[in-house]
Amino acid sequence: MFTCPKCGASAKTRTSVMLSNEVRRSYHQCNNLSCGSAFTTLDAVEHFLNNVLPMKANAVPKGLFPNSNYGEDQLTLSL
Ligand SMILES: [Zn+2]
Repeated sequence: MFTCPKCGASAKTRTSVMLSNEVRRSYHQCNNLSCGSAFTTLDAVEHFLNNVLPMKANAVPKGLFPNSNYGEDQLTLSL
């Protein structure tokens, strides 16, 4: 939840859209009926707190988990 920058009342987040993998724009509306301001905010990744390496495509061995956990081959109906 965000507070209205004009009156300080709480504001409801109506929707949001991803602008990139690290930035999201959120649309808010003030809950104070006498104010009613609408505004946007930007949420961004500031920095990572650890140094995790990116996961390789075949890092999880086939057959370890059910097919529903492996992406594109989820709906094969072969017997
Ligand atoms: Zn307001």
